[in-house]
Amino acid sequence: MPERLAIYPGSFDPPTYGHLDLVERATRMFSRVVVAVARNPEKPGLFSVDERVEMLKATTSYLPSVEVDAFEGLTVEYARQREAVALVRGLRVASDFELELTMAITNQKLLPGIDTVCLMPSEQYLFLSSRLVREIGQLGGDLTPFVPPEVSQRLRQKLPNTDPER
Ligand code: ADP
Repeated sequence: MPERLAIYPGSFDPPTYGHLDLVERATRMFSRVVVAVARNPEKPGLFSVDERVEMLKATTSYLPSVEVDAFEGLTVEYARQREAVALVRGLRVASDFELELTMAITNQKLLPGIDTVCLMPSEQYLFLSSRLVREIGQLGGDLTPFVPPEVSQRLRQKLPNTDPER
């Protein structure tokens, strides 16, 4: 059977259990899943792209069909280069839907033949976002329910406000 490669693009600043939930779901549908960190020179973010890639590699290493990469520019251009059959995105709340629909239709226009597969996470991750994690980290809250240990460790190093004992 030919390889069916999907790209899961995003900022992943930082990766959360919500992202990982989606990666696992995607591995059940596609023979190869590329988690692709979008480089956006206008939005440097909290973690560098290299740091995000490292965290994603560390936290998905138990999934043999997953690859982690970074790209710059149009997602569809990267998808074309990788010969992807689909883009994976996540849907949590109603507000995600409008944005994802707009992006999916735009990407279809730019690259006919590419489909966006939107996956819903487990209920416990429905209200989880990288922004929330950054805020909790900045305020020194416990990150254990939201991100894997590799990520909370990096957040503690990055954000001096967090409790080093935690
Ligand atoms: P972007 O800046 O491209 O939205 P994110 O890293 O925030 O990048 O998210 C990448 C994708 O993962 C988006 O489709 C987003 O909706 C989805 N996502 C993020 N967190 C979750 C979560 N907790 N559950 C399901 N999907 C999620």
